[in-house]
Amino acid sequence: MDQSDKLKQFKGLSQTELFWVLEQLPYATGLFSTDLKYIYYNQVGERMSQIPFAEAVGKTPHDVFPPDVASRFVPLIEQARDSKQTIVKELDFDFGKGETWIQLTYAPLFDDHGKVASIIAITQDITFQKQQEKQLRSYSEHLKGLAEHDTLTKLHNRHYFFQLLDTAVIRAGANQPVAVMYMDLNFFKVVNDTLGHSDGDKLLVMLSDRLCRFGERHNLAVARIGGDEFAVLSTNHKSDKHLRALARELSKEVRAPYPLSGLQTEISASIGIAKWPDHGENANNLMRCADIAMYHAKNHLNEVTFYHADLDTHSLKHLDLMSSFGRALREKELCLYFQPIVRMADKSAVGYEALLRWRHPEYGLITPFEFISVIENTQSIHDLTAWVIDEALDQIHRWPNFGDEQYVSVNLSARNIMDDQLSQQIATAIKNHHLPGQQLKVEITEHCILSDADRAVKTLTAIGEQGVEVLIDDYGTGYSSLSKLIQLPVGMLKLDLSFVQSMLDQPQSLTIVRSTISMAHSLNLKVIAEGVETQAMWDKLKMLGCDYAQGYLIAKPMPPESIGEWMSANTNDIVSGSK
Ligand code: C2E
Ligand code: MG
Ligand code: MG
Repeated sequence: MDQSDKLKQFKGLSQTELFWVLEQLPYATGLFSTDLKYIYYNQVGERMSQIPFAEAVGKTPHDVFPPDVASRFVPLIEQARDSKQTIVKELDFDFGKGETWIQLTYAPLFDDHGKVASIIAITQDITFQKQQEKQLRSYSEHLKGLAEHDTLTKLHNRHYFFQLLDTAVIRAGANQPVAVMYMDLNFFKVVNDTLGHSDGDKLLVMLSDRLCRFGERHNLAVARIGGDEFAVLSTNHKSDKHLRALARELSKEVRAPYPLSGLQTEISASIGIAKWPDHGENANNLMRCADIAMYHAKNHLNEVTFYHADLDTHSLKHLDLMSSFGRALREKELCLYFQPIVRMADKSAVGYEALLRWRHPEYGLITPFEFISVIENTQSIHDLTAWVIDEALDQIHRWPNFGDEQYVSVNLSARNIMDDQLSQQIATAIKNHHLPGQQLKVEITEHCILSDADRAVKTLTAIGEQGVEVLIDDYGTGYSSLSKLIQLPVGMLKLDLSFVQSMLDQPQSLTIVRSTISMAHSLNLKVIAEGVETQAMWDKLKMLGCDYAQGYLIAKPMPPESIGEWMSANTNDIVSGSK
């Protein structure tokens, strides 16, 4: 049946019947004359507009609605009339009861000659539907946010960062650089273990705010990749030098103190950098290389390391070392080397530092730089330190020329200082070897105490009570102030070798060396310079009033069996004398 047949059937209906059809419709339905006057609207229309039909009949919408309301829909009626088309439009109104959405449909009605006789208007309240759509939209945005962001820090998450990186690589042309920086916090575990997870989380949130601002400043994407690992994507650096400068600034942001539980906690980071296309052609490979570079930075106490192929084999070796360390302890593959520390005034040996070595069946003699940072993050560090202390005390017993005034110093890790049993272990070791506490010293770096100064003070005080003096190793690299350190039972500072070795050509290093010596003396602390390799360094240090020296100029670290020989040879002429 076509339209005209349908119309024939329809014409059989009476006017009254048609009226009731319109009146019963569930939507506000009305009729306009071609000059836009109300001919009719039904009861739903009266309810919706709050205007009884009797008040509107023969008038235009401009006569019955406020001008700002009428002016929004009248043009639509005109458009339907003039274009002879059905016009559908959704509009939002605020009628004082919150936002209301309506859908307006205006359709021209034609007479038998095809001329527009009137316009029908159907108005539907679609507020509920709109609200649902809005809720759905915000929910899916929320879901998208969850999928792209880390819930704790609100930074981008790992998944999204990989997408960003892949997109950057795909878009990058010959002239657009892409580089990724992989950053891992140093000793964050210690913060978590000692201050608790809630403070650990707070630190991560504070850090993330800083990283976010850093990213905005330099137009870089920043993400949290995992626990204490973050990544930065750069697509607008100008050179490697520029990248390094950015990484340094990033590291500086990390180092600023965090107020936590009344303490100013400090933390540092290691950063590895990989570049497209040299180090990888996709996100996975770039991230892997940046990760390897980051590990290298961590193990060598560098702030920043760029990836290069040599690091790869290194990292495989790393994994292997970690898994075979238990065997090393059991099967006596570990040994200690000793390096003398001499008094600058008379060049006499005052002590010996015990330095760990691993005689690996496959890799040969391995220095601690290659494995200690890995072991430090595991429980094995406690067994290792206990072994080192015991072995060091055992060795000095065997040296006939080892005097009562001399000492052996052992290096401790951050985890050791957080270990409540350490001081008891030391007490037992001293007792077992029948030695006074003064013959043992412990070396700690500033990093060890930064994360939980209170706990460090407790452990170190307990150690100090046994006559064992604490020595601050690598002084100058840990961003802490002397005033903080003197709260600890510290007797000596060991100036980091980087300052000692650069002081002759870098005025800044010389200033650090000079001021550290004078400040330490004013606080009654003695200073050891480490890494003294040349006569010129020795002379300069002596002139600056440094108390003790350690380094290749005096002796390299040596196996215990060589110590006796060195002791007898070391009368007075290790160093050719100061000018
Ligand atoms: P450290 O305690 O600062 O030790 C000084 C490092 O400088 C030693 O490296 C030593 O061999 C090296 N050195 C000494 N004189 C010179 C010199 O004149 N020039 C140069 N370039 N280097 C010199 P080593 O033995 O490789 O130890 C590296 C680090 O490993 C140590 O730094 C210490 O932090 C850590 N370590 C060593 N033994 C142990 C240990 O038993 N336990 C723990 N937890 N850490 C240890
Ligand atoms: Mg040391
Ligand atoms: Mg040192």
